[in-house]
Amino acid sequence: MDLGISGKWAIVCASSKGLGRGCAEALAAEGVNLVITARTRETLEQTAADIRKNSSVEVKAIAGDITTEEGRDKVLAACPAPDILVNNAGGPPPGDYHDWTLDDWNKALNANMLTPIELIKAVVDGMRARKFGRVVNITSSAVKAPIDILGLSNGARAGLTGFVAGIARKTVIDNVTINALLPGPFDTDRLRGNFEAVSKARGVSIEEVRKERAATNPAGRFGTAEEFGAACAFLCSDKAGYITGQNILLDGGAFPGTL
Ligand code: NAD
Repeated sequence: MDLGISGKWAIVCASSKGLGRGCAEALAAEGVNLVITARTRETLEQTAADIRKNSSVEVKAIAGDITTEEGRDKVLAACPAPDILVNNAGGPPPGDYHDWTLDDWNKALNANMLTPIELIKAVVDGMRARKFGRVVNITSSAVKAPIDILGLSNGARAGLTGFVAGIARKTVIDNVTINALLPGPFDTDRLRGNFEAVSKARGVSIEEVRKERAATNPAGRFGTAEEFGAACAFLCSDKAGYITGQNILLDGGAFPGTL
């Protein structure tokens, strides 16, 4: 299927690795020019070089922290009129809610709720004026089925989801859609980091933890960044103009509900 977005420009946040990189690669494969971001310049430049090697699109690598005003300003200066925005940032740490201070909450809300809202606010009116726009927020399966130790994530992402539910119904009149992709367990550095922590705590090998966790998923495995990127590229396509305000779960069937 031709997704009809060749030649467009996308900002893909937090995309040197993992799910963000999967989205950037899938968009590049569709001929979409990219502005990619991450904090560490070397890793980001390497990702940009890999994408350029495998496609003919233009790739601008903008190093910086997307959760800061300075980081967002740099990205928007590099691409003031994007056709596509993929919002992403690292997730908050796990823990016990008794221990979370106001500062912990402010960090989580800033990274996983207010940063995407600020970026949407910066680009969405231009998209509406140009009669094309696709915004995809990478959130979490925790939006649908909260995970107790990830309360900071449950709360911040639910806030973003509520905000988007309102405006996604307003922008679609101008062919600007806003949706979220909700990852379950995907095989990225973040998941690998969790396995390391569990392996240390339980005194079992990382491989054992990985096998156990994979077996609990109906698919018997974790998702891949490629699968995630493909779903993102479809939502960004010109074929997806009638999908807006949706929260799409990619979890191998782990959520047990009928709907
Ligand atoms: P990852 O650690 O593999 O990759 C994160 C990417 O974001 C890296 O490129 C990193 O450099 C970049 N990044 C992080 N913070 C940034 C910041 N402040 N500014 C700019 N770049 C930043 O993580 P991932 O697994 O791809 O996860 C992406 C998002 O999806 C996270 O919010 C995570 O909590 C969420 N999520 C992931 C899973 C999973 O199983 N992988 C499940 C549910 C939710």
